[in-house]
Amino acid sequence: MIRKLLIANRGEIACRVIETCRRLGIASVAVYSDADQNSLHVRQADEAVHIGTSDAASSYLNADSIINAANASGAEAIHPGYGFLSERVVLPKLCEKNGIIWVGPSPEAIECMGSKIESKRIAKEAGVAGVPGYHGTDQDDAVMVKAATKIGYPVLIKSSAGGGGRGMRRVEQESDMMEALEIARREAQAGFGDSSLLIEKLIQRPRHLEVQIIGDKHGGLVHLFERECSVQRNYQKVVEEAPAPRLSDEVRERLFEASLKLGKSMKYDSAGTVEFILEEGEDQPYFLEMNTRLQVEHPVTELITGLDLVEMQIRIAAGEPLPISQEKITVNGWAIEVRVNAEDPAVGYQPNVGSVRGLRLPSGDGIRIDTGIARGSEVTPHYDSMLAKVIAYGSGRTVAAQRLAAALSSYSVFGVGTNQGFLRDIITHPKFIAGELTTRFIDEAFPDGWKPVESDKHHAVIAAAAVWAIHIEARAVPPELGPFLSLGGFRVLGRAGKCALTRLSVVHGNTKKLLELIGDKGVYEISIEGVTHKVSIRAIGQDASISIDGISHRYGTYVDNSTVDLSFGGAVTSYQVKPELDSIGSSSGGAVAGGPRLAAPMPGLVVAVQVEVGQIVSEGETIVTFEAMKLMMSLPAPISGEIKEIFCEPGETVGAGAALLDIEPSESA
Ligand code: ADP
Repeated sequence: MIRKLLIANRGEIACRVIETCRRLGIASVAVYSDADQNSLHVRQADEAVHIGTSDAASSYLNADSIINAANASGAEAIHPGYGFLSERVVLPKLCEKNGIIWVGPSPEAIECMGSKIESKRIAKEAGVAGVPGYHGTDQDDAVMVKAATKIGYPVLIKSSAGGGGRGMRRVEQESDMMEALEIARREAQAGFGDSSLLIEKLIQRPRHLEVQIIGDKHGGLVHLFERECSVQRNYQKVVEEAPAPRLSDEVRERLFEASLKLGKSMKYDSAGTVEFILEEGEDQPYFLEMNTRLQVEHPVTELITGLDLVEMQIRIAAGEPLPISQEKITVNGWAIEVRVNAEDPAVGYQPNVGSVRGLRLPSGDGIRIDTGIARGSEVTPHYDSMLAKVIAYGSGRTVAAQRLAAALSSYSVFGVGTNQGFLRDIITHPKFIAGELTTRFIDEAFPDGWKPVESDKHHAVIAAAAVWAIHIEARAVPPELGPFLSLGGFRVLGRAGKCALTRLSVVHGNTKKLLELIGDKGVYEISIEGVTHKVSIRAIGQDASISIDGISHRYGTYVDNSTVDLSFGGAVTSYQVKPELDSIGSSSGGAVAGGPRLAAPMPGLVVAVQVEVGQIVSEGETIVTFEAMKLMMSLPAPISGEIKEIFCEPGETVGAGAALLDIEPSESA
């Protein structure tokens, strides 16, 4: 058995492999770039070796550095994960030279399946039908245009060496073909270093189905059933599940048979995935391509079969035979996975970067999270935006989907925006629930693009204000200031029994709302745009249960000074909550009798009162020194006039909005 394994990858997949290593008693070696010094995979591995600068080309894609790291650390084997070098022959070839075990298929298998043209030829030879199209080596324009006409428009031009949904171009009619070929060729050369193209019939309502296979070095080969990955965006998978819903046994059998045929024809000896495309409602699946590595979506297969694919890969690489025969592999239950990406689906799926300030993990039965991030992780622009995968398992599809939706609502990544709200809306969409899946799902489910449901924007703003208020109350009095001070806090009533209000501004993006808040200890009245709401908030660990006018919701919360992050329905929204210093005293909303008042902008300590009753002050003059959140503030007189009454004393702790003093406006004021 292998005793030490190096993982030539990062992020969630590196962490995933490390987990199996730990279970099997294999020492794990992580590799990392400059940007990943403090990444989770580095912290989780037994050892970690720095392999280069942040750009992938000089670190995770640098096979020599990886081999050096393996040699230096004494790793006997290398697991490539997915992406990066996993489907390039350079690393397995170097492994062979250096006497290191490659946890993956032979370089020959990688090579021939890495070309869509070559893989289609091999599949055809093995009796597996590809999408009708042109897969010839003659790349002459005239030949290709003629082939497209024969196939019938619309067609899809693909780069033979392409992958990850890149290098595909849809062509509607013959007159567009020449230009499309030219652009596709240029892109293929630039993107994949190989300009060969193929043309396929464009399947109108495609379903993406794939079969997990795994073979050993002794001629053993089994399939681990199918996965459906039809929910895609830009030809990239967003949701994956196993088994596939609404699939006849007949089609299913065809998929298994074709996949095993292809695997056997190449003596495939590791984990691999054979991908197919099926026109919705038809029963002839076409071979698309084969991926000669572990897939992102492998967990759904693990959950329904109870097998650990990484363990199987490692054991097979070490020469062990498959641990299980085909008859013994059965499907049990249903599993659905979503990819949590640091991106903003409401703004053109713009990627987000930043540091993960906090994480709130979902609980509940049947939930698995494969994550590459932890609190404090930096999400940098150097690598892909997938942060984690949330996978739900249930006895059936409905249970799994329900669990997944619930998990997405309670899983929060604070500090870096994710696509969770979008994912949740997919999982709960009636078409998804009905299992009506094609690659057009997202376009059809969200024809105008996805936007977060903002059933009541005011509710979120009110909730942010309440979270801020209770947080400020809790930390208003540093314990070191002495026990008498900790009696302080937030107060509804000013000294003279008069109500005091705090005016707050709550800013989200470009919108700023002004609120008035009154109350204490989690019970407030909050007014926004002339409507007053009764609000109560109860903190439950990192969460808060917030009731607004009698209707209660649970939010994930994160507060850092004036930043309040609220997580609801899977989406985290960030607000800036600040007391409105300018309007102190002018806010009384009719509740305050007498002259304009100076009120405490937030809970804090009255450090000094610079004035006495009867003293004449001018507007803007500092009259009280106040300390809150470790900041000293000079509070100015809101108007010119005479100090009429002082309600506070130096050393006193007061709540937000507490009345500090009243000023009688002077004649001229
Ligand atoms: P890649 O290697 O980039 O992942 P694939 O050939 O596996 O490319 O295709 C990725 C996705 O593109 C498929 O899942 C499917 O959604 C879409 N696609 C591929 N070929 C066709 C086709 N002929 N017609 C319609 N959609 C296609």
